Amino acid sequence: MVVDAAVVGAGPNGLAAAVTMARAGLSVRVYEAAGTPGGGARTSELIQPGYLHDICSAVHPMALASPFFREFKLDERIGMFVPEVSFAHPLPDSAAGIGYRDLERTTTALGRDGAAYRDLMKPLVEHISGVVDLTTHGLMRVPRDPVGLLKYGLRSLEQGSVLRTRRFEEQQGPAMIAGLAGHVVGRQPALASAAAGLMLGALSHTVGWPIPTGGSQAIIDAMVADLEAHGGQIVTGHRVTSLAELGSARTVLLDVAAPQLEGLADGRLPSGYAAALRNFKTGDGVSKVDFILSEDVPWADPDVGQAGTVHLGGTRRQVAISEAQVSGGKHPDNPFVLASQPSSFDRSRLPPGSHRQILWTYTHVPAGSTRDMTEAVTAQLERYAPGFADVVVDSKATTAADLERYNPNYVGGDFSAGKMTVPQLLARPVPSMNPWRTPLDGVYLCSASTPPGPAVHGMCGYLAAERALKDVFRLPVPDLGPQ
Ligand SMILES: Cc1cc2nc3c(=O)[nH]c(=O)nc-3n(C[C@H](O)[C@H](O)[C@H](O)COP(=O)(O)OP(=O)(O)OC[C@H]3O[C@@H](n4cnc5c(N)ncnc54)[C@H](O)[C@@H]3O)c2cc1C
Repeated sequence: MVVDAAVVGAGPNGLAAAVTMARAGLSVRVYEAAGTPGGGARTSELIQPGYLHDICSAVHPMALASPFFREFKLDERIGMFVPEVSFAHPLPDSAAGIGYRDLERTTTALGRDGAAYRDLMKPLVEHISGVVDLTTHGLMRVPRDPVGLLKYGLRSLEQGSVLRTRRFEEQQGPAMIAGLAGHVVGRQPALASAAAGLMLGALSHTVGWPIPTGGSQAIIDAMVADLEAHGGQIVTGHRVTSLAELGSARTVLLDVAAPQLEGLADGRLPSGYAAALRNFKTGDGVSKVDFILSEDVPWADPDVGQAGTVHLGGTRRQVAISEAQVSGGKHPDNPFVLASQPSSFDRSRLPPGSHRQILWTYTHVPAGSTRDMTEAVTAQLERYAPGFADVVVDSKATTAADLERYNPNYVGGDFSAGKMTVPQLLARPVPSMNPWRTPLDGVYLCSASTPPGPAVHGMCGYLAAERALKDVFRLPVPDLGPQ
């Protein structure tokens, strides 16, 4: 059967594109290389039966904030637990920095630096719709909230430069901001990571940082169910190697990292565009370690146990040193580790009656790293949770090189599908007001290599589908709510 739309890749963006096209009344077929749909949002029994681990993404502020998921009404389709403590940042010589959902509570806990933290975050919290609108559509568009943009831009410039040292007097505030920026792999300070970090910080004090019941897979299952209910099909176990395999689909949406596009196009891309794709740089990698624990993590500061997400790496200076080592091709002695403790909030991740816990962690490593980071991550956890090693029942490491084998979009373990720098946010993967449209008629790129970039928000797919509906079918974006 000739379909209206062929989608390559069933990650959150490919599925967002597929759902949008199917809801517009078009026939849709999705091709996925792996055995199941999901990309960076799968959950599986990675280590032992009955223990559900998120293989990639785990915590989903963007699933509540993203315009696509708001239209899709994801929060009505799946359960999501929003912890009162969005994130915690334990420190070697002082109490942990705690990012409560309540901004005032956060600032009170910060004591002397509370006012400085409030002054940084409050304007972003007040302009959260404008900040989200900007960060979920890409930088190449007229901002809906210029005042919000100004406040966001100035604060990003401050925290992304040497000016950041002026704001705080104590250790917690700066470390908390460095930890938020650490969701982007790369040297600190830098404008792109500061901007992403401040956006995540503002979300932590508004919608919060939710953890889906049953794991990230629940998001994918909701999208697949909607797609299938509207006639879409998913073909799994089919890695597309040439666009020619897709027959005469009227439009093609590619949830593939930009470097793949040239190969898929079999030499049909204009030389300038192909050269731009070759210049689009991938970043350093991440390496995962998942754990099954006999009990809760024995955090030295018990408040850390209330957090959905924990940033480990110490002071702002220590985080900057660690990130600089990764950029320089080294595995850091004091790695920056992101951890999430989902089973503290969602017991469905465990076999019935189990009193154990699961812990999700990843850390930054040089691109293509094959190093098992279990020892380094365990040592980092021991620093802030003495006795951690004694509660480990089992663990599994996934190196950066393994991640690329698992998902071809993660070149060298780069989970952003392209390095996150300001030039690469303006040219993702090429400078254009419509970066989703490729020079090939009816072919659109819709992965995290396009705006707005990485995270589970579905916006790259949604925005690409919006363009394809308009260009190829002269159709408006359909209603996406449950029906
Ligand atoms: C360890 C880790 C932790 C993360 N944590 C978070 C988090 O907590 N919160 C968050 O929001 N984000 C997180 N992310 C990032 C998030 O997972 C990604 O940004 C997001 O999944 C990107 O979605 P996507 O649809 O663009 O691509 P992907 O999710 O990468 O999906 C692409 C899909 O396309 C398939 N594919 C690629 N090429 C082909 C081909 N030629 N033929 C057929 N199929 C193909 C792949 O197999 C894959 O299934 C994390 C990622 C990793 C790796």
